[in-house]
Amino acid sequence: MRLTPSRIIVAVAFIAAFSSAVFAQDPPLKSITYRLSMSRPMSHLFEVSILIELPDQLKDKSLQLQMGRWSPGRYGVFDFAKNVQEVRAVADGAARQVTRVNDQTWSVSPLGVSRLTVSYKVFGNDLSGTFSQLDQRHANYNGGSIFMYVKGHKRDPVKLEINAPAGWKIVNGRTDRLGQTEWQFPNWDIMIDTPTEIAPDWTRDDFDIDGRKYHVVVHSFGPEGGKRPALVKDIEKIVRAEIAMWGAPEFQEYTFLLHFAADDHSGDGMEHLTSTQIIQPGALGDPGTYERTLGTVAHEFFHVWNVKRLRPEELGPWDFTRPLATRGLWIAEGFTNYYGHLMLRRAGLWDERKFLDAEGETIKGIESAQGSRLMSAEESSLSAPFIDGSPQAQTTNLQNTTISYYPKGELIGMVMDLLVRGRTKGKSSLDDVMRAMYEEFYLKSPNSSYYLRGRGYQTEDLERVASRRSGVDFADFFKRYIRDVEVLPYEEAFAYVGLRLVKTQAKEPFNAGLSIQGTVIENVRNNSPAEDAGLQAGDQILSLAGKDVTKDWLKTLARFKTDDSVPITVKRDRQTIKTNIVLGQPERFDYRIEEQTDATAEQKVLRAAWLNP
Ligand SMILES: [Zn+2]
Ligand SMILES: [Zn+2]
Repeated sequence: MRLTPSRIIVAVAFIAAFSSAVFAQDPPLKSITYRLSMSRPMSHLFEVSILIELPDQLKDKSLQLQMGRWSPGRYGVFDFAKNVQEVRAVADGAARQVTRVNDQTWSVSPLGVSRLTVSYKVFGNDLSGTFSQLDQRHANYNGGSIFMYVKGHKRDPVKLEINAPAGWKIVNGRTDRLGQTEWQFPNWDIMIDTPTEIAPDWTRDDFDIDGRKYHVVVHSFGPEGGKRPALVKDIEKIVRAEIAMWGAPEFQEYTFLLHFAADDHSGDGMEHLTSTQIIQPGALGDPGTYERTLGTVAHEFFHVWNVKRLRPEELGPWDFTRPLATRGLWIAEGFTNYYGHLMLRRAGLWDERKFLDAEGETIKGIESAQGSRLMSAEESSLSAPFIDGSPQAQTTNLQNTTISYYPKGELIGMVMDLLVRGRTKGKSSLDDVMRAMYEEFYLKSPNSSYYLRGRGYQTEDLERVASRRSGVDFADFFKRYIRDVEVLPYEEAFAYVGLRLVKTQAKEPFNAGLSIQGTVIENVRNNSPAEDAGLQAGDQILSLAGKDVTKDWLKTLARFKTDDSVPITVKRDRQTIKTNIVLGQPERFDYRIEEQTDATAEQKVLRAAWLNP
């Protein structure tokens, strides 16, 4: 279902009125103190106690505590409550009954006392920006996955005390001094925006820009190959390039929390107001890890402005009892993807060719995906709870029906940037539009909630600001490319800067309609030859054209052409199935962004203003 803008405004107004009425009934708690311990790291159990001081009006009411169903920045629904155990309550030295109300809520009542302690343990053994890990090496947590909030009191100030194992040092993006073990936060949302690392052996390197301090905290589980000093220098280049676009950031200190997991599977990047958690699966010394780390840094640091402060209306304060519903993630994440690449170029870490090749690859991914013609950028954003790392117990057709707002938004950002630059003859750009959005919604808006400065935007606001800044009406663009699924106007966009998009035949001169992981069919495209042949995801290919299937299955197919019938044998459960695929017309193409040989001086000037540091 698609809501019209006017209906959404009515719905939002209703929710705002309703929630302020709820808050009005509830006076703040006198104090809320979280105590975090980790007495048995090998158990992976974080021990949490919440000490609550109640005002007289609330002494006889029941108190409910909730674990979030998800946490900001990753929109899959994970139900953190599944890892909670041994919830207990104590008041006046005596145990109080705790009742589980539903999957995410525990209730304590009646009280009649002024002080109450609720304690529980929560299991965490994932090194990730979304989850938490406690083991013999370290404790690394994302607060949303381990801290319950007191229902109705998420806005109250909270205190945090961490009791770390002997010799383990605590660091996070709000650490004022080494050895700090206590923090005061204005509300629970800010506390969970402060991921924390606790270990005996992380390192910290610092740099200063315009009086602000930047800390690069690294915890390496594999060899660094002597690359850390260079990494810190390159991170500084990225920070300078992004500040050059946005202006001075609002904080005084910022912390990059980097893990090199050396486990080949942990990988994540998560944005926060004064820090980021970045986890790379490799070791810093491995080939490629260094470059990938810089790519993640450029993306996550851009979030300091885009998403953490300039944000869609639904992104803070959050309702953690239901999945997120915002239409703006193609701006929040997609534009950040675009600028992440652009900033590597502007920082001098990528050359022009590398940037253009990266965008060509993104175009290939989007234009080859069946979901591109079925799902708009706004719908993709609304589908985030299904597609952003969400566990799928049920077999789905999401690979064929969805499009990710990351690459789709990246291309929308690039095309909008070039249209604004081109149509204004270089007088304006998406940089100007984003700065204007930041000023209007973050710096100059009155606070719309307890959570953070300013207020959130709707996608119509970007449409309005982009039109105003560029003098070009973006209404038609938003209708066709953002709320509908038309192919973006790449040709017009690239022509402004003397470039063109070249589409060529991909490796396979036919379409089989399947993708393979090892020898197992990973996906069958809809209305494809593989579907006609009765194949399905999960089938293990035993032979193709009479040959055993290896990694080079495409090579085996390469001697065939469109309309050829290729015998295939697959194993499905206990059955062996023989069938034929009749190869179809090619559907996948390569895309490369090339220079127009007859580019004018004016076009080259526009390109230089776009891509040069
Ligand atoms: Zn660590
Ligand atoms: Zn992001």
